[in-house]
Amino acid sequence: MARPSKYVSRSDLGWGTSPAASADPRSGLVVHYDSSNQNLANRDHSACLTYWRNTRAFHTGPSRGWVDIGYSWLACAHGYVIDGRGPRREQAAQPGGNRTHYSVTLATGPTDTITDAQINAVRELRQWLADDYSNAGTVLGHRDFIATSCPGDRAYSMVRDGTFTQAPGPITGGEGSLLGLKEGDGLLPGAPVEGVKAVQRLIVAAGFGTTLDPDGVDGRWGPATSEGLLQARRYVGSGVSSIKSMTGESYAQLIRACARREAERAVSGLGAPVDGDDGS
Ligand SMILES: [Zn+2]
Ligand SMILES: [Zn+2]
Repeated sequence: MARPSKYVSRSDLGWGTSPAASADPRSGLVVHYDSSNQNLANRDHSACLTYWRNTRAFHTGPSRGWVDIGYSWLACAHGYVIDGRGPRREQAAQPGGNRTHYSVTLATGPTDTITDAQINAVRELRQWLADDYSNAGTVLGHRDFIATSCPGDRAYSMVRDGTFTQAPGPITGGEGSLLGLKEGDGLLPGAPVEGVKAVQRLIVAAGFGTTLDPDGVDGRWGPATSEGLLQARRYVGSGVSSIKSMTGESYAQLIRACARREAERAVSGLGAPVDGDDGS
């Protein structure tokens, strides 16, 4: 693909060509953050540009003394990819990978929102680097290189679950989903196991528990849970063909499926199944 659809170049910023050394990073893209919350998702895009100019001033100032801003790009909450050093430049971002990998910061802090537009900006950037710069397209987090909190737990879970390596396009899952629940949850440490169990219990109550076999209600959202949710939604008339996350629509239809099944059981005189207790 061509350059990301929303792009701010160095010339747009009035910065001229980066004085950093030439390099040809081909091994991947490394995600970074800011160690403090910046709240840019709730501010105008102009605040991102101000943040970026301030970051460059800090990186080239007395405390860092670098030749230029440290990163290759910023992917902002409004979906823009903003030039740092840009393509084919060595960085001062992840020692050990400054000539082999590109760097992109989300400019988020530990609990800042990572927006769908921002996720898509990273996806577009990754795709562009793969297509036009022979980059492998592997996405890593700064903490894969050294012991650091960067890029924060939220972004790093997205690095690990493949959120950034999907093709650019509409976002499924991620923080845009209801309760943050999506396929893959419970399969990695720190994921919302109890939330996934709640979804699975509703799938059972809606009458599609067999899709979860043989593991049942285990708090791990793999393809079987997605299939159960899909069948429950179709049961109440949905025409969707695949589901990867608990969207608001998914949730509403799952509740309706439970109510409909309950009504059917009442008519047939079978009564509702007794809830089991697995001790959790
Ligand atoms: Zn970092
Ligand atoms: Zn912005």
